[in-house]
Amino acid sequence: MAEFTMELNDEQKEVRDWLHGFAADVIRPAAAEWDEREETPWPVIQEAAKVGIYSLDFYAQQYFDPTGLGIPMAMEELFWGDAGIALSIVGTGLAAVGVLANGTEEQIGTWIPQMYGDANDVKVAAFCSSEPDAGSDVASMRTRAVYDEATDEWVLNGTKTWATNGGIANVHVVVAVVDAELGSKGHASFIVPPGTPGLAQGQKFKKHGIRASHTAEVILDQVRVPGSCLLGGKEKLDERLARARERAKSGGERVKNAAMATFEASRPAVGAMAVGTARAAYEVALDYAVTREQFGRPIIDNQGVAFQLADMRTQIDAARLLVWRASWMAISGKPFTAAEGSMSKLYASETAKKVTAQAIQILGGNGYTREYPVERMHRDSAIYTIFEGTSEIQRLVIARTLSGMPIR
Ligand SMILES: Cc1cc2nc3c(=O)[nH]c(=O)nc-3n(C[C@H](O)[C@H](O)[C@H](O)COP(=O)(O)OP(=O)(O)OC[C@H]3O[C@@H](n4cnc5c(N)ncnc54)[C@H](O)[C@@H]3O)c2cc1C
Repeated sequence: MAEFTMELNDEQKEVRDWLHGFAADVIRPAAAEWDEREETPWPVIQEAAKVGIYSLDFYAQQYFDPTGLGIPMAMEELFWGDAGIALSIVGTGLAAVGVLANGTEEQIGTWIPQMYGDANDVKVAAFCSSEPDAGSDVASMRTRAVYDEATDEWVLNGTKTWATNGGIANVHVVVAVVDAELGSKGHASFIVPPGTPGLAQGQKFKKHGIRASHTAEVILDQVRVPGSCLLGGKEKLDERLARARERAKSGGERVKNAAMATFEASRPAVGAMAVGTARAAYEVALDYAVTREQFGRPIIDNQGVAFQLADMRTQIDAARLLVWRASWMAISGKPFTAAEGSMSKLYASETAKKVTAQAIQILGGNGYTREYPVERMHRDSAIYTIFEGTSEIQRLVIARTLSGMPIR
């Protein structure tokens, strides 16, 4: 019987310190430059690949950490360095997890190495689900995948948007409708291999924050991929669709719950990113408050400033605890009876937005300039309440789970 402990084990501490060193020495010093350039920081990704942080091995090791804390710890440290650069480093991992979770062994072995490339020639991958008319409302997805039996190929048509690494990825994972009658249960994921004709980058977005991370539309025009690119394979898809059709007829609850459990398990990772950004801004603000003097004393001597810092730190720690709880629940297969994964993402992302705004206030005029990092951290933090389900969607999920009512 394992003892209850809030402490990381020695191995985890070692990994955390190693990641922190990389975040402090490599990521943070590059943050302002890549934010201004609004370009993918290839040299930093390459550095991460050289030391082993940008690799499937590293990601998988954290993912399968039996305590559940590997991923949240890694996310917090990397995003503490800089959110835009960190997303460029972990974005491929998010696409790779889609393949790890749904792909066959052969698909995992074939495609994941091509997502990362190698340290001398790094590549990235993209996960394309959102569409112009299907953001929060995933069931409205229109991108279609039609099976061509004669050639054993799938033909994909549609427009994806907001894809992290979209268009610059070596491998794209694309979610498409295979059975429109089944709503989100009629979706399947496909690998689009490097250089496949018909896939093109559309508009690249100029963003408010996380500007070092590439976000773009992906246009799919008669994209033909071999049958082997359907994640999980055709037999498994046909079985899943048949089950979904039956369950849709006789009370669809179980299907809904299975899908929800997947989101509950992945959302704490975004919460951890938010904790990293919030902690970074808090540290800058604390340091500033003890050194900046006005009226002949450090500004932290005023309760008006000191209490803000006390609240910031309290909320960051509370956010981390929610993230760790949900991550532990996910790895131990505990049911999310109160949507604890959504709770952690909701609270951590809202905390990051609030804390980074307070940090700007504590730095006064300096906080408002690009000479100091907190304005960037504040811009970056706004993404956390939007992607992987907006705060409103998290509240909807939590409220529905708590009440069992179809709240809209
Ligand atoms: C920088 C960035 C990177 C991204 N990366 C990816 C990626 O790699 N792959 C990918 O597939 N997607 C990605 N996304 C898409 C992201 O997941 C969506 O933006 C998000 O799901 C919200 O969808 P939307 O933008 O269409 O907003 P909408 O769904 O149109 O929502 C607009 C507003 O309405 C509110 N709203 C909507 N429905 C309800 C409701 N029922 N109740 C209450 N309020 C509601 C929302 O909360 C929000 O405030 C990314 C987005 C951004 C900005």
